[in-house]
Amino acid sequence: MYIYNIKEKPCRTCDGASLFCANYKYQIVMSYLVDNEGYYGEFGGAYVPEILHKCVEDLQQEYLNVLESEAFQKEYHQLLRDYVGRPSPLYLARRLSEKYGCKLYLKREDLNHTGAHKINNTVGQILLARHMGKTRIIAETGAGQHGVATATVCALMDMECVVYMGATDVKRQRVNVEKMKMLGASVVPVTSGNMTLKDATNEAIRDWCCHPENTFYIIGSTVGPHPYPDMVARLQSVISKEIKAQLLEKEGRDYPDYLMACVGGGSNAGGTIYHYIDDPKVKIVLAEAGGLGVDSGKTAATIALGKTGIIHGAKTYVIQDEDGQIEEPYSISAGLDYPGIGPMHANLAAQKRATVLSINDDEALAAGFELTKMEGIIPAIESAHALGALPKMHFKPTDVVVLTVSGRGDKDLGTYLSSLNIEH
Ligand SMILES: *Cc1c(COP(=O)(O)O)cnc(C)c1O
Repeated sequence: MYIYNIKEKPCRTCDGASLFCANYKYQIVMSYLVDNEGYYGEFGGAYVPEILHKCVEDLQQEYLNVLESEAFQKEYHQLLRDYVGRPSPLYLARRLSEKYGCKLYLKREDLNHTGAHKINNTVGQILLARHMGKTRIIAETGAGQHGVATATVCALMDMECVVYMGATDVKRQRVNVEKMKMLGASVVPVTSGNMTLKDATNEAIRDWCCHPENTFYIIGSTVGPHPYPDMVARLQSVISKEIKAQLLEKEGRDYPDYLMACVGGGSNAGGTIYHYIDDPKVKIVLAEAGGLGVDSGKTAATIALGKTGIIHGAKTYVIQDEDGQIEEPYSISAGLDYPGIGPMHANLAAQKRATVLSINDDEALAAGFELTKMEGIIPAIESAHALGALPKMHFKPTDVVVLTVSGRGDKDLGTYLSSLNIEH
């Protein structure tokens, strides 16, 4: 089944030239991208407290004008090139290709400044914040990767930065907390709930409600009220734009047979698939965190288990109990340890446009070690979930597969090594 979006597109005959063309506003375009109301099928929207209505509406009004303006595009792409280090390489992994019987390319987001794809988004949002005259930046963070990426661009742009982080995560991710402080951010430990990402997000929203005038909330994934999921996906879509050009050069065609990525909230996956989302030739495989197993009660497999609900301003799949209370997720990977999922991805799963696999902790660890030993790349434990989907696939030898390595594994050495001690 397809979702139909009505886009304002001129009809083919008059190309918008005729004011009287009856087809002008009504051409119907099949798309899995956001519709004019901020929905992906039944998912998405903006469910925010009244005090934030104006903030969110201002953002809805402004974001496309700014993102599509020449001045923004110029500064954004200049920073992506000279500061982030883009384009990130598309690397043909020879040994893994042989093992899995396909042509496997890795999109190397791990080589970006600050070690993951998150910086693509924070560079874009801080330029937008500056354009809108905001002077204070807030952010939520789980593992600390988005917090570091936000503190980094705040240092770059000389903006005040406050990062909310669950107290449990503050203890687990000491190095990232120290980096944020060195970069000049204040890190606020959050002691409500499970003291992890969900609670940090609640606290950031509370702060935004208190300072709607001067504060811009930089959300780190394709979650939250419209326009955030679309805005973050657009800012990450540079990933698939580059894949197109790189595949054309290496394979003589600009599309792969498969795209693979891990999903927490969905931003690295959203960026990887953005320019292919409406092309049915390209199969999409998403890996979510199974934790100790989908039926173990210790999992973050939102698509496998989630029911429709509202979390952090959007209607989407949420892991919840029978009374609609959000349940505490679990994953070995702090970046995937979230009880919701972006509305774009909820819709892709509901429409069966994407295949979603749950990858358990042990499968991700094994895949992380395999990439390290066979290709000399230590991936983030989040990215290792995407790699952990490879053994479950059945490729043809001619299949071209692009898998996004969302980040590097420096932050996860402790996790990898302690798993060895337990298993041996
Ligand atoms: C944050 C993070 C993720 C998960 O976030 P998405 O928005 O789903 O991409 C995945 N990989 C890495 C390395 C991360 O830091």
